[in-house]
Amino acid sequence: MSIALYPGSFDPPTNGHLSLVERGLAVFDKIIVSVVANPAKSTALFSLDERLELLKGSLAHLPQDRLTLSTFSGLTIEYARQAGAAAILRGLRGSADFEYERQLAEINRHLAQDVQTVFLMADYKWFFISSSTVKEAASLGADVDGLVPKIVAEGLKKKFGVNK
Ligand code: ADP
Repeated sequence: MSIALYPGSFDPPTNGHLSLVERGLAVFDKIIVSVVANPAKSTALFSLDERLELLKGSLAHLPQDRLTLSTFSGLTIEYARQAGAAAILRGLRGSADFEYERQLAEINRHLAQDVQTVFLMADYKWFFISSSTVKEAASLGADVDGLVPKIVAEGLKKKFGVNK
């Protein structure tokens, strides 16, 4: 059985993340979507539990027997091994992602030759979407419906005090 670990901040999950999971399910038997508890990103808008809830709601339409949600801290490759994942799934938008992702993939490769990083692109519609741009737009009062799953749009409205 092919298992991929899809690690990320998911602060919050966007339609780009969702598209990647959907495409990943066409390639892998199972995907572990895992929120990284990373102290360097402790400025997160949503708590770990909130992000897990948002992911759960966002992925509810997909086959649940092929998805696992979790959180982890520490080395991604160690968690991948522990979870039985032979691949780390990551997404690419453009060249800015490429340089960063390449460094991550190379260091992970150095640390573990038995875990492969696999890159997929999200649907072209989500090419310009990142969690940070969505958060910034929402914080300024923009309507982000259509860029993020419904449950996330509602979560952002609550965070930024917009009652609709
Ligand atoms: P991280 O802090 O690990 O980069 P993110 O939640 O920002 O966590 O992203 C997780 C992964 O999903 C990364 O590989 C990122 O490039 C990818 N990703 C995020 N948004 C998109 C998108 N719109 N299209 C393709 N990949 C994306």
